[in-house]
Amino acid sequence: MKIGVDVDQCLRDFMMSVVQVFSRHNPEVVLGETPDTYHGWENIDLPPKEIRRLIFGEWVEAIFLGAPECHGAKNGFESLVTWAHANNHTVVCVSKNSGYLADLTMRWLSDHGFVFDEYHFTADKSTIGLEYIIDDSPGIFKQWIEAGNDSSKFVLIDYPYNRDILAVPRVPDIANALTYIKQHSHR
Ligand SMILES: [Mg+2]
Repeated sequence: MKIGVDVDQCLRDFMMSVVQVFSRHNPEVVLGETPDTYHGWENIDLPPKEIRRLIFGEWVEAIFLGAPECHGAKNGFESLVTWAHANNHTVVCVSKNSGYLADLTMRWLSDHGFVFDEYHFTADKSTIGLEYIIDDSPGIFKQWIEAGNDSSKFVLIDYPYNRDILAVPRVPDIANALTYIKQHSHR
């Protein structure tokens, strides 16, 4: 089976990188570490258009390439890949990043030693043939369900902005996602 793993907020702490880079340039606009809503950026005290211009324009390389790993991501990912390969499963990258952002993401993954069996950069993660997906995004969860997939196979990485999603496996990190998948999949 194919296990999909999202990059941002699962392996790469993109939101923390945003806070770090904004703090470096303009600390007084940083109100907190995590936004209340997904990509809502309520934690940055600037107009949304200006925030997007800085994140995806002026500071894009600092933010995408300089981002830290999510807590425990490396060990969790290596355990996931080791278990998957021992059981004839594949671990595939599924990221919504496109164009230049996908290039930066490939560089970040390579710099940090995250090696997947396949790489998919797509806005539609429901058509890749995944058995399980590990992701944090409310929008991707909605897409997964609307495509007729089973909510018990969407392993949600817990964040404040996705707590209104109920009835899914909710885990703090990749290591716990692996524990869940091991317990619920058949070899
Ligand atoms: Mg994500």
